[in-house]
Amino acid sequence: MSTTLDAALYLVRRGGRVFPLHGMRHDSAGRFLCTCGKPDCDDAGKHPLAKLAPSGLNNATSHEHIVRHWFTNAPFANVGLATGHTIVLDVDPRHGGDASLEALEAEHGLLPETTRALTGGGGQHIFFRPPEGVEIRNSTGDNGGLAPGLDIRGTGGYIVAPPSLHASGRQYAWSVDHHPDEVPPAPMPAWLVAALARPRNGRAGRDPSEWRRLVAMGVGEGNRNTAVSRLSGLLLRRWVDAEVTHELVQAWNIARCRPPLSPEEVTKIVGSIARKELQRREGRGVIAT
Ligand SMILES: [Zn+2]
Repeated sequence: MSTTLDAALYLVRRGGRVFPLHGMRHDSAGRFLCTCGKPDCDDAGKHPLAKLAPSGLNNATSHEHIVRHWFTNAPFANVGLATGHTIVLDVDPRHGGDASLEALEAEHGLLPETTRALTGGGGQHIFFRPPEGVEIRNSTGDNGGLAPGLDIRGTGGYIVAPPSLHASGRQYAWSVDHHPDEVPPAPMPAWLVAALARPRNGRAGRDPSEWRRLVAMGVGEGNRNTAVSRLSGLLLRRWVDAEVTHELVQAWNIARCRPPLSPEEVTKIVGSIARKELQRREGRGVIAT
C-alpha cells in the first residue's frame, strides 16, 4: 500500500499542487475521529491541517521538499489536491449525483474515457483537462453546482485525493479501470464547458442598459479614452480575443466617438487594458504557467 507521501509526490510529478488535510484516526478510546479532535467535526478528514498549512489551499505546492516535509511529519494526513490544473466532476450519490449524471449523459452522450477516483463515501471524482481560454471555477451546492449531487471542483477549489481515508473508514482510491497511468484526464466535453463557462450571477458588473446606451450613443471629447478602456475591458473580461476586441473597438471609435480618437491612440488603450486583463488572469491562477 502506498503511503500518503508517495501519493502526494505522484500527484506533484503529474503537475498537481497538494497540501495536507486532517486525516481520520482512532483515538485512545478507540473512536474513529477527524484528527482535529472534534467528535462532531462536520468536515471530517477534508479540512486543511492548519498546523502545517496555515493558509490551507493557498499553501498548496508542487515543491517536492515541502511536500516531503509535510507528509513525513504528518503521515496520517489526508492529501488535498488543488483543482484548476485539472477540473474534477464530483459525483455524490447521497445527493442524487448518480441520477443527475445519468440524465446528463442521456442528453449529451456518455462522458469520455478519463481518470476516475472512488471516494471513500461511495462517490466518484471524474477528472478533466481544463478547456483553453475558459476559466472553470469551483461550483458546488452552496453557489449553484451543476445539478443535484454534481459539483465542479475548479479554480479555487480542491479535492481529497487517494489514498486518503474517508470518514466512512474506507480509502479514496483510483478506479482500477481509470487509473491516471492508463487513462489520463480527457479534455472536458464541450457541453460541460458550455454549461459551466457562463458568467455567474452577481458578476455581470454594470447594468446592461448603460452599455447599450454607450455603444449606441457614443461619447464626445473628454470621455473617449475612458469609454474605449471600458469597452475593451468589457469584451476582454468575457474572453473575447484581444485582436477581435481591438478591431471592434477601432470600428466603434470611428462610428461613435465625436470626433474619433486616432487609431494609434485606440491601439494603445486596448493594448494596455489587454495587458491588465492578462495580469488579472495570471494572478488568479487562471492561466497555467
Ligand atoms: Zn476535523
